[in-house]
Amino acid sequence: MLDSAQPDGAVGPVDLSNIDFDGLDGRISGCRLCQLATTRTRAVPGSGSRTAEVMFIGEGPGFHEDQQGKPFVGRAGQFLDQLIGLIGLNRGDVYITNVVKCRPPNNRDPLPHELAVCRPYLDRQIELIDPRVIVTLGRYSLGTFFPGDVISRVHGTIRSKDGRHFCAMFHPAAALHQERYRQLIIDDMKRLGEWLDVRAQEQAKLALEVLVDPSTPDRPHQSEQLALF
Ligand code: SF4
Repeated sequence: MLDSAQPDGAVGPVDLSNIDFDGLDGRISGCRLCQLATTRTRAVPGSGSRTAEVMFIGEGPGFHEDQQGKPFVGRAGQFLDQLIGLIGLNRGDVYITNVVKCRPPNNRDPLPHELAVCRPYLDRQIELIDPRVIVTLGRYSLGTFFPGDVISRVHGTIRSKDGRHFCAMFHPAAALHQERYRQLIIDDMKRLGEWLDVRAQEQAKLALEVLVDPSTPDRPHQSEQLALF
């Protein structure tokens, strides 16, 4: 729940629990709940499949994203596209967003207040998409779900929390600044691809079992066994 004036003129508590995807995008695009609204060109809600199995969450829009209103369209975005290709998918198959939807001035780190006030938008996006796995890109995204975790220790792991799977990765921009991160990120993405393949095979096996014997109990992915790499 957000408390403040909204772009459509609503004032006071705003409940996002019943808002649909288009409504949510509209809220974000016109949001003025934190100071980043005063310096952004365009808010960047996110893009991709609204039924994605894989959801990538970065830190915040950069210069090009702010100009175009789309996430990961700069050089880091081009690298992310290549990484997504490594798991046999493309941008239209996944959903990509950030923990803050507006560009921090000069690409500074998002402030705790900005992260907190923007969080309900991300939570509602996750709720609507209900992805099989969330890939956190960078430390701010990781810290949103696993406060206190150190990315250099947990990158490449796939963990379960609150009924969801999370894969921690370095931000693709890290590879642009330091070459040593490039291979680390590629290796982590390949590991995610292997995990997704195993899950796909298990899902296919279950689907076949249900086809052969409809009394076979279905198992939602929320109850899948924790996998730790
Ligand atoms: S960063 Fe989030 S909370 Fe702040 S103005 Fe943009 S959409 Fe609103």
